[in-house]
Amino acid sequence: MALSTPTDFATHGIDRFTVNGDMRSARNQTMLSLIGNPRGNYDQECRWPTNQAILNQIKIEDVGPFKVSGLAPAVEALGNVMDDIKAEDREVYDALGTMGMLCCRLVRGSTSAISNHSWGTAIDVTLEGKLDKFKDGRVQKGLLRIYKIFQRHGFFWGAAFSREDSMHFEICDQLIRKWVDEGKITSGGGNVDNGVLDFGDRGPEVTELQQVLNLRLGLDLDTDGVFGPATRATVMEFQRQNGLTIDGVVGPNTAAALGIDL
Ligand SMILES: [Zn+2]
Repeated sequence: MALSTPTDFATHGIDRFTVNGDMRSARNQTMLSLIGNPRGNYDQECRWPTNQAILNQIKIEDVGPFKVSGLAPAVEALGNVMDDIKAEDREVYDALGTMGMLCCRLVRGSTSAISNHSWGTAIDVTLEGKLDKFKDGRVQKGLLRIYKIFQRHGFFWGAAFSREDSMHFEICDQLIRKWVDEGKITSGGGNVDNGVLDFGDRGPEVTELQQVLNLRLGLDLDTDGVFGPATRATVMEFQRQNGLTIDGVVGPNTAAALGIDL
């Protein structure tokens, strides 16, 4: 019982906002540009990637207390975390479970941000079969005993998110970049060829889209070739001004109004 009981961070002298030190959470823009887009569309449902180059880097493995699917180096890192927890805190190890690693979906409650679970670099853990309550600003006691072990292996702790998510650990931004540099992750490209330009796509077509949007709306949108939140918002603004369906997706009608080829 005790391990899954919630407690206050302050009681343990922890400031949850700075608990990860220098480690940063990897932003969508980073994941999309370095690894690629796992799927062409997202909602709140948990789905499997459709991008074959990313699927090829997915590994399914028993890491000790449970079996997971995730990006190969992240699964390997998680295995090392579990080995350490087993050696250093057997009681917590025996109480550990998971609510999943690889899961392509939007961040809970968001209509545009992609969860890092979509790339299989994040894991949600349970203690005694119970999830730490989302957004309550508190933390299960058992998690306080193991978060440093996750951090040691490059996992950023979700306790620091503005919407507190203490059951969540994800590979930090710095380690993602290091793995890309070392060739442990290869980019799967951005465009899932579904005949539209959509959130998460990247490449010269997106750069062209951004340039045309800037021209048409007199804006200064970053022309980085990554269809992220700002591009999506700008497409929606263009659609609104032109009486088109406001969905943030560049399909045939929006492309025709913009004068671009898909
Ligand atoms: Zn999570």
